[in-house]
Amino acid sequence: MELNRVRADTPACEDLVFLDSAGSSLPPSVVLDTVTGHLRREAEIGGYRAAGERTDDLERGYHSAARLLGCRPTEVAFLGSAAQAWLTALDAVPLVPGDRVLISEAEYGTNAVELLRRRDETGISVETVPSAEDGRLDLAALRRMLDERVRLVSLVHMPTNGGLVNPVREAALAAHQVGALVLLDACQTVGQRPVDVDALGVDLLSATGRKWLRAPRGTGLLVVREEVLPRLRPRLVDHTAAQWTAPGRYRMRTDARVFERFEFGVANRLGLIAALDYAWDLGMEAIASEVADRAARLRAGLAALPGVRLWDLGPDPGGIVTFTVEGRPAGQVRDALWDQRVAVTVSPPNSTLLDATRRSLPDLVRASAHYFVSPDQVATAVAEVDRLTR
Ligand SMILES: *Cc1c(COP(=O)(O)O)cnc(C)c1O
Repeated sequence: MELNRVRADTPACEDLVFLDSAGSSLPPSVVLDTVTGHLRREAEIGGYRAAGERTDDLERGYHSAARLLGCRPTEVAFLGSAAQAWLTALDAVPLVPGDRVLISEAEYGTNAVELLRRRDETGISVETVPSAEDGRLDLAALRRMLDERVRLVSLVHMPTNGGLVNPVREAALAAHQVGALVLLDACQTVGQRPVDVDALGVDLLSATGRKWLRAPRGTGLLVVREEVLPRLRPRLVDHTAAQWTAPGRYRMRTDARVFERFEFGVANRLGLIAALDYAWDLGMEAIASEVADRAARLRAGLAALPGVRLWDLGPDPGGIVTFTVEGRPAGQVRDALWDQRVAVTVSPPNSTLLDATRRSLPDLVRASAHYFVSPDQVATAVAEVDRLTR
């Protein structure tokens, strides 16, 4: 990858050590120009005509998502966020009293809360598959817990609070043996490393635009495999999801877009599509190897600092690096680093409460370097953390 080129495409990274692509990344110029250009066009000719000029591009977006994710264009639905995509998918899974849903200790806050609410409302059970010694989902435990009452297995590819990579493919294979659906939260991996829906074997996948894909906020997508669509029950269907064919009749769409809405931010959607294409052009393998390089430098640098503790799990953690500095609350570390033009965030326990409870996690400082962060900038960030320990 040409570091100079991708950095030139990201003007802000010149004087900002940006380590928050797991939160909300910096867009490349093409994304920013696409969004602002369309907003300007809407102001010139009105939103309907402006969208009309981009009909082909909007349609092409399904292909852009599909080629990056290894699925069919008809299996892609664009939504307003990953949470919206995930909740929409869950909502469409028919669940009756006695049904079981399995989650992992990496489960994300939003997902967990809605599942617990659904449990209380419906009388299903929500059970946590324990983690193995190395922090990953325990596949043997999963296999023991699976039976024909398990309707859904919810997996998180990489949690929001660390670089752990879960064994999705193996878990999906096991879940399918009892006929359970597999819903994958791939928020932290799409745009960071290759994510191939076919290879992973999941039925449903949610992803966000604003993180590793570097798209605008308010964008997300849902992948629904064609084979599972008949098993789902879309609700809150509007007149793009279904066609009003006669006064007393309607016809539902038969592809993933049955989960979409008529109204959406066209500028943001076009920005997301530009971001998908930008990632494709750089190549996901190349992106993954740069991200792995920065994360390895960060971990090695931080591990060498006395008073700094790393918290990531798994044998080969990815691009999210979490740590604490002895005697300094995470929020204080974040603010002190920001004063030195180093951007990190804090991952609080309740965004991953199962893992946080099991490991008694405090607030963690989360540093996530994308490919546009130079190795020198990683060294700068480590040096700034070092200063804080003194
Ligand atoms: C950020 C995140 C989400 C939510 O993404 P939104 O786009 O804010 O809805 C879901 N799951 C994980 C693991 C995340 O890190």
